[in-house]
Formats: sequence, C-alpha cells, structure tokens
Amino acid sequence: MTFIRSCDEIATLVEEHTRDLVGRSAGGAYVKMGADGTPTKQIDQVAEDVVVDYLLENDLCDRIISEERGKLQAGPGDRTVFLDPIDGTFNAVSGIPFYSVSLAYAEAGSICEGYVKDLAHDEAFYATKGSGAFLNGTRVHVASTAYLEESSISVYGRKFNPGTVLKLGQKIRRWRLLGASSLELCYVACGRIDGFVDVRETLRVTDAAAGMIICEEAGGIVSDHTGEPISFPEEVTVGKSMVASNRTLHHKIIEYLR
Ligand code: MN
Ligand code: MN
Ligand code: MN
Repeated sequence: MTFIRSCDEIATLVEEHTRDLVGRSAGGAYVKMGADGTPTKQIDQVAEDVVVDYLLENDLCDRIISEERGKLQAGPGDRTVFLDPIDGTFNAVSGIPFYSVSLAYAEAGSICEGYVKDLAHDEAFYATKGSGAFLNGTRVHVASTAYLEESSISVYGRKFNPGTVLKLGQKIRRWRLLGASSLELCYVACGRIDGFVDVRETLRVTDAAAGMIICEEAGGIVSDHTGEPISFPEEVTVGKSMVASNRTLHHKIIEYLR
C-alpha cells in the first residue's frame, strides 16, 4: 500500500508541474528522441523528471524503466518501476482531458502493484496483486456485457491490420478510441468500456504494465491478439499487441482477430 500512497503524491506533483503545459503548444514542443523511439515532448520531459526525482529521493525502487529516458539503474536490488510519465501526450497538449501518469511496481520480475492517475479528472485507479482493483478507494469490476453486438470497445490498428480490425469494428456496438491506453485499460477495469484491443504491436511495457494488473484484478482477461499471455521484457523498445476485456467477450474478440 505504501507504493500506491507514494503514487498519489507523485501524481499531485506531476499535475502541478504540467498544469501550464496542458492545452498549450509549448507542452508539445520537441525535446529529443525518447528511448522508446518516439519523440519526447516538453510535457513528457517535465513529468518524467518530477517522477524520477521522487522515486530516487524516496528510495522506492532499484531500477526505473521509463518511456523517455529508458533504463535507469539506481540500486543493487530487484525492485523495478515501469513509468509512463504522461500517457496520452497528444490529448494533453491538445487540451483534451484524457491523459494520465502510469506506474507499475515489480519485485523479482513480477508486477505486484499498478497505479494510473487520470490527471484531468482526479481519478486514481490502482491495484495490488491478489487484492482487487480500485478507483479512488472504491472496488471496481469489469462489465458483464456478453455480446459483441452490445459492446463498446477501443480498437486500435485500422492502418496496421485493416482487414481484421474493420471486421471487429463492424461487429461491435460502439467503437471508442480515447487516446491513452493506460486509462482505457482502467476504463475496461471499471466497466466504462467493455474492451481494449490494440493490434499495432506498439504497446510498451511502460504504457501497459499498470493498466494490465488493474484490469486483471478487476476480473478482466489480458492477452496478446492470439489469446496468449503477454510477458514484456524490461525494455521500452519492444512493442506488443493486446486484447483486454471481460471473460465472456475476450475469446469472442480473439475469434474475430484470427
Ligand atoms: Mn513517446
Ligand atoms: Mn504511453
Ligand atoms: Mn508517454
């Protein structure tokens, strides 16, 4: 629980430090090429610096895997934090209130805590392995939607894999694309949407690690696009595909992606 509590403080700091960059072109100014191979924008840099400083000053981990600066070894132990300082950067600088800070905590290679804060709505989603998933202190569960025809799903990959994606898009009731995958996984966790599908093979451990455990602890199933479990390496350069939804819809979505 201490890690989650620290995350609340981290999120508050990120919010304070990035407030003036939200909805502003200055926030989207190019800083450098990030470790994950996508450009680091001003708002990403500011947020990452705040979080990394906090993690190190408070000795919360031995290693940080972060989107912009990559791997940072800080101590001799095996406590790792996976960090996406701003997930949904394009939303943030466009002034669309849907972006987050995402942190996952692992010991000896296995994720035990996940925390995703919606910075525009003051909603904190978090989970500890084996203890369920929460939104601002209230337990959350995935939706019980049983039919694709009634489902509301985020489906990414229309350019990458148009055939299968469009077929799934025609089957579902509502096609959602909200632009911040960590939060969309949390939306699956609390039943606001029924699924998250990304077949672009560009999801990084930093985007997904926290949202995955939150979704699973809420009763959801998370796999790759073939239905196999996903294991991320501790690298920000490796991208994966993902399907997350409730137990009933999950295999139906996988069928459509075959
Ligand atoms: Mn990036
Ligand atoms: Mn991201
Ligand atoms: Mn990011």
